[in-house]
Amino acid sequence: MPKKRKNRGRHKGDKGKEPMVYCDNCGKLVPRSKAVRVTVPYSPVPGDLARELEKQGAIVPRYYVTKTYCINCAIYLGILKVRSEDERKKKAALSRAPIRRESVTAPSASKSAQTQTQTSAPSTTQGMQGSTTKS
Ligand SMILES: [Zn+2]
Repeated sequence: MPKKRKNRGRHKGDKGKEPMVYCDNCGKLVPRSKAVRVTVPYSPVPGDLARELEKQGAIVPRYYVTKTYCINCAIYLGILKVRSEDERKKKAALSRAPIRRESVTAPSASKSAQTQTQTSAPSTTQGMQGSTTKS
């Protein structure tokens, strides 16, 4: 029987059973090897404010949040992309790994990622601005 993917869309090999995990976006129960895990830098301080505070010498905390998504949500959120038959045969992990390393090490890249995540929570940023101006 022809296979669409060599690893059947999972990375468990011939392991047998494995634990199920919940998708952080939709709550779907998916096998752990099929789920997509993404580690994203997250900071409660918005990117513009964090840059100004770091110029003044303040230490802005950065947290790394690991999210687990099902395949549907990973494609919807743009983490994975639907690939053509020829592209599916190539190894995707080799091309993806350096991109993740750059986002972790380079401060400019992580800041731009923070600004994208911070736009969703404006209420907490106002509280942070008030507390930071006092100090
Ligand atoms: Zn999902």
